Amino acid sequence: MKKLILVMLFSASFTLLFAQTRKTQNVVIVTIDGLRWQEVFRGADSAIINSNDTYDKNEVRKNFWADAISDRRKLLMPFFWNTVVEKGQLYGNRDLGCKDEVANPYHFSYPGYNEIFTGFPDKRMNTNDGIYNPNMNLLEFLNKQKGFENKVAAFASWERFSQILSPKRAGILVNAGFMPLDVPGMNDRLKYLNELQLEAPRYISDSTRIDFLTFEFAKNYMMQYKPRALYISFDEPDDMAHAGNYKFYLDRIKQEDGFIKQLWDYIQSEPAYKNKTTLIITCDHGRGDEPMKKWHDHGSDVLHSEQTWFAVIGPDTPASGEMKQGETTYHKQLAQTIANLLGFNFKAAAGHEVGDAISSVTGKK
Ligand SMILES: [Zn+2]
Repeated sequence: MKKLILVMLFSASFTLLFAQTRKTQNVVIVTIDGLRWQEVFRGADSAIINSNDTYDKNEVRKNFWADAISDRRKLLMPFFWNTVVEKGQLYGNRDLGCKDEVANPYHFSYPGYNEIFTGFPDKRMNTNDGIYNPNMNLLEFLNKQKGFENKVAAFASWERFSQILSPKRAGILVNAGFMPLDVPGMNDRLKYLNELQLEAPRYISDSTRIDFLTFEFAKNYMMQYKPRALYISFDEPDDMAHAGNYKFYLDRIKQEDGFIKQLWDYIQSEPAYKNKTTLIITCDHGRGDEPMKKWHDHGSDVLHSEQTWFAVIGPDTPASGEMKQGETTYHKQLAQTIANLLGFNFKAAAGHEVGDAISSVTGKK
């Protein structure tokens, strides 16, 4: 009997110890520029489909319409709704009282990305111009940690990440816009992507490459070099929204969802990543919704464009699914949340403030 109690005590303490062990050793961060929470949680919007912003309405209805919200959103983002909600967490459904926001007052891209990566909604970062970010970012911090040196990389469709992440100072690989990738020992697939990129149409602009190229660079880099912190930044939904093209906006959202599924399938099939990698997916700002045409826009003068969302799936994050109510979360909290998942406390070199980690994500009280 005594022996049995001892065994039980031992196994109980072992369980406790095990429960406190952090499993995340790698992180993959994906952002989708300007994707509204309204589409993430409600799927396609019938008022916009019925407006002049949607051409080929029948095609759009066929691909994205179902009467029930729970079916409709799955048509738009099947990976989110079939996998993340089953095994991870999704924040920002205001219809359920779950609020996620940017803390910066500007509601456009550079301030949004600065907030996510530095944890500091710095009022000085109030332009999309090419100024070098003076604030230390999470990727820069991680690259200085033991085991992460030269294991941190970012791939972005928008060239502005060459300033947002200050790669020269940060000492990290940032491949942004139509920049060729230049890494020692690149395999033929990566070399071929450099060639392909030269021939790719510049549908969006000279400063922003189309997302499939960014995805292919990131995926192939990941497979060859196995970074421990990887950031992938998609842009097209924002561009299509500004253009007022709802069909393309929806098509691009579905495309990104498929890219993210490919990433997660790879992560869970590769021993270097499987069951020890956390994937975080979010956006840089929301967009308007009142009046309906305001879905094109965002900014401090566009009502509700501070409203955002984020998703997490990984070995340390409880599978709580779609989050309901609770405290409002802010994107300035994501940097410390990600650092904590990896077992670090993110302190910026210049001593700027950093938002607190979100404990429901890290699984720690
Ligand atoms: Zn925009």
